[in-house]
Amino acid sequence: MLARFLIWALFLLVVWRALRSLIGGIMKGAAPPEVPRGGPPAKGELMVRDPVCGTFVLPSRSVSLRDRNGTHHFCSDRCRQAFQPQ
Ligand SMILES: [Zn+2]
Repeated sequence: MLARFLIWALFLLVVWRALRSLIGGIMKGAAPPEVPRGGPPAKGELMVRDPVCGTFVLPSRSVSLRDRNGTHHFCSDRCRQAFQPQ
């Protein structure tokens, strides 16, 4: 009687461990792939609207122009020149 119980306990332990490693493997496989760093812009940087064409640009990657109204950001030189022909 006791021996049978011990065999069962051992069996359940083996099954439990197998299940746990299986679940762990599934969880690992389901984890989202890591996002490569360096490419996308830094988080938290607010995008600003190009007043000429309406495109949203990152200030750090835009063509900027300062005038008495403040700093304007453009997607390209062309938009900046359209905004303020020189
Ligand atoms: Zn533009």
